[in-house]
Amino acid sequence: MPSSRNLAKPYSRGTRIEIVYEDSAKTEEKKHYFDESSPPPKDSKILLHSCCAPCSGAMFEEMLHRGYDVTIFFYNPNIHPRREYEIRKSENKRYAEKHGVPFVDCDYDARSWFQRMRGLEHDPERIGKRCVACFDMRMEVTAAYALKHGFDAFTTTNATSRWKDESQVNGSGLRAARDVMIEHKKGPRFWLNKWQTDAFTKRKYEISAEEKFYKQEYCGCSYSLRDSNTWRKLNGIPAVKIGGDVAGLGTRYFEDAKTDAEEESQEVVDSFFEAARRNFKSAGKVNDGIVSDILTDVYGNRKKNASEKKIALNNW
Ligand code: SF4
Repeated sequence: MPSSRNLAKPYSRGTRIEIVYEDSAKTEEKKHYFDESSPPPKDSKILLHSCCAPCSGAMFEEMLHRGYDVTIFFYNPNIHPRREYEIRKSENKRYAEKHGVPFVDCDYDARSWFQRMRGLEHDPERIGKRCVACFDMRMEVTAAYALKHGFDAFTTTNATSRWKDESQVNGSGLRAARDVMIEHKKGPRFWLNKWQTDAFTKRKYEISAEEKFYKQEYCGCSYSLRDSNTWRKLNGIPAVKIGGDVAGLGTRYFEDAKTDAEEESQEVVDSFFEAARRNFKSAGKVNDGIVSDILTDVYGNRKKNASEKKIALNNW
């Protein structure tokens, strides 16, 4: 287990980079990653950073199918409160053990996470800089562990959720691989792949329903929990429930793969974030006084479950 207190420095570059797959092969950066045209060789040792069981299912299955030697790395000091963290971790561990895959239970380094997020507390999920800082921290620790333990490549389940910005997630992974490579003159490569396809989304929810995974109601950090509950309160929706057999809204466990996949279709996700970005940009500086207005705009435009229940759930 790495000493993440030393590795996870309380600062953030907070920058967003766009990944241009076509041009990247011509650049020096190519040394820092594998991609679809040049995937990790068969039998490679892959470290899969995992945020939760539902997001790891289809990725993990694909890696085993391709003949990789995969290890799951659970490093998520962002998840709050501790009870929610333990639930997500135990689900993920159960699933890994079922397939005989090693599971690394890393440090719950929550204090460093909060330190690093200082000043970003009111950035909305995905649209502001906080999520980039959160990905950076987790990728830096994953890359350091991969280097220390001789992995050929690493990647993350954050890359498979359409509710995450793929360019933010991949940018963090690439920076982490590059920094390790520059500092140590060797290191694991970050594995870029198109993990957000329709096929992966469908398979992700099939596995989740088959396994009846715990269905989390928010992304994970205390700020996403706060914002989800603010939105719910504004709309008379019950608050998020942590643990227990009954969710605040919707089902506690995954059970309907088709509906879940439809709610994460590219079209639904694109239209939601387009509206959210527009509203965030026009709102200007975020502070306590206007955060509720932004949340109304951001979450109010989300279509998840809207057709059936006439209300919107938050993303995770
Ligand atoms: S909303 Fe999710 S990705 Fe963003 S900072 Fe919170 S836990 Fe991290």
